[in-house]
Amino acid sequence: MKILFLHGWHSVPGGVKPTYLKEHGHEVINPALDDDDFTSAVKTAQAEFDKHQPHVVVGSSRGGAVAMNINSGSAKLVLLCPAWKNWGTASNVNPGTVILHSRADDVIPFAHSEELAKSSEATLIEVGNDHRLADPEPLSVMLWACELLGSGRDLSQLDEELPSEMISATSHRESCYICDACGEEIIIPLDLTEGINQTYVEDCPVCCRANTIHVAMTEDGSARVWAEPEQDRD
Ligand SMILES: [Zn+2]
Repeated sequence: MKILFLHGWHSVPGGVKPTYLKEHGHEVINPALDDDDFTSAVKTAQAEFDKHQPHVVVGSSRGGAVAMNINSGSAKLVLLCPAWKNWGTASNVNPGTVILHSRADDVIPFAHSEELAKSSEATLIEVGNDHRLADPEPLSVMLWACELLGSGRDLSQLDEELPSEMISATSHRESCYICDACGEEIIIPLDLTEGINQTYVEDCPVCCRANTIHVAMTEDGSARVWAEPEQDRD
């Protein structure tokens, strides 16, 4: 998936968040944005957007304000504690935009994102412990949001309970499958940092035969998990 990442004020390309997205197999365009001249930063971002036509635009802090002020067509926005009240003129986003923000953010008030989410029918996910959102949990939620939106799913129709579900899904969820060989129910942890659609091989802990496990996340935050015999099995 192609992602345009717009960094924050006094950040540089190649930070933790764009690197994380890149490490998970995405093509990340991460231009350097002018720290002093907001108009110039928007112009740079627009040029990169027009050139690369990304599926998803991620904007962090001031980069979130940049993302809101470019013409991003039908691309989806993932905003990380966007500083939209500090920079630019845009005061709303497309419905379906996902906003990640920590209530403990001491740089940009959480209330700014609450206001934005309410006025725009965006989905606000409370996550992380600070403004940076560079810990494992916010990183995995960012990745999940990008992959969910980039695959064309629309979160705007989902109810308000979803955000906490999404967060718990990324860190503590379990599911199960029925072993094809012995019929036992096998509990597995769900690690969404591995993506919303996963296929992997594991040996059944009961009968030791190999199963190919398929995991598919659905829009309501639940997982569909099923197993089939691994093809190389004798
Ligand atoms: Zn088994």
